[in-house]
Amino acid sequence: QQFGQFNLKPAVLAALKKIGFEHPTPIQSKLIPTVLRGGDVVGQSQTGSGKTHTFLVPIFNQLKPELQRTQVVITTPSRELAAQIAKAARTFAEAMAMEKVSIVEYVGGTDKARQIRQLEKHQPQLVVGTPGRLADLVKTGALVVNQVKTLVVDEADMTLDMGFLPDVDFLAAAMPKDLQTLVFSATMPEKLKPFLRKYLENPSFTTI
Ligand code: AMP
Repeated sequence: QQFGQFNLKPAVLAALKKIGFEHPTPIQSKLIPTVLRGGDVVGQSQTGSGKTHTFLVPIFNQLKPELQRTQVVITTPSRELAAQIAKAARTFAEAMAMEKVSIVEYVGGTDKARQIRQLEKHQPQLVVGTPGRLADLVKTGALVVNQVKTLVVDEADMTLDMGFLPDVDFLAAAMPKDLQTLVFSATMPEKLKPFLRKYLENPSFTTI
């Protein structure tokens, strides 16, 4: 398969070429078309499968850098994973020459007061963070999520194990009703299912 078979903008195809991605991985082939149509997905896959770009590629296809509002929220249970995702997103934005897009990480153990002051001036188009800190920033009114188009819940099983699912639920509840929700998880524990039923509409399930 080729990335050219998907309904991607020329700028996205050019960026994929620039970062050296020639062919989609199996999870990308299976899920990118659904995500591009705006559908909800549940991807059961391991790290190394290419799941990060399964969501980043369609997200950058629809991101509007000229709009100064938060359009995408990505939650992940650890600071290290947040840093990795933010790095991949910045690399992709750079390959697309999207100078105006801001991608910001919000994780526990960092200066919250400073983040609140910055959010008062500017809402980043794409945010990546740990659920607790993101929920705190929404509760204080600093981070505005009522116009978010896409929520990505990365490592959902680990998020559940660490007790962060209520924070993700709070975030999803603060987002628009027609939210697109993309959930990735290595395993599919029963305790995750109520969340999936609450926020995902006719999701495409894929196990790679
Ligand atoms: P991930 O599973 O998202 O952590 O990705 C694992 C690694 O594969 C990362 O280094 C990605 O940059 C790389 N990768 C993801 N998709 C592709 C692709 N279609 N072609 C080549 N490398 C890829």
